[in-house]
Amino acid sequence: MKVLVSNCLLGINCRYKGDNCKNENVLEFLKDKEVIGICPEVEGGLPTPRDPSEIVNDKVISKAGKDVTYEYKKGAEIALKLAQDNKVDLVLFKAKSPSCGSGLIYDGTFTGNKIPGNGIAADLLIKHGFKVITEEDL
Ligand code: SF4
Repeated sequence: MKVLVSNCLLGINCRYKGDNCKNENVLEFLKDKEVIGICPEVEGGLPTPRDPSEIVNDKVISKAGKDVTYEYKKGAEIALKLAQDNKVDLVLFKAKSPSCGSGLIYDGTFTGNKIPGNGIAADLLIKHGFKVITEEDL
């Protein structure tokens, strides 16, 4: 079984703060599976660390007010290509991220409030038929 996984869950320091969110449940789940890691935000050209961003209507805006929609969409396209080229069976992405989240994301006010929705990369993968889950679903 091949799984496309958020790099931060694997322990790679690619989060906006420059840290990671290594998850032991994720590592245990992946023990007998083929893992393909990606950080869509880094692939889209954003630096680490970086200003946090949230989805506001149909755009992605950083806390400082910069429009980073292009970078998010580029990262999502790269994630989709990686998933398609490798014919992954499952996508295991970080919950609530504006790129990787699925089902629930931050509401665009940078207050911690959450609303139903998908991150940009997760949404593109779902629309192309991939099953996307988060570490909270394990
Ligand atoms: Fe993790 Fe995804 Fe955010 Fe990258 S874009 S830091 S992989 S949640």
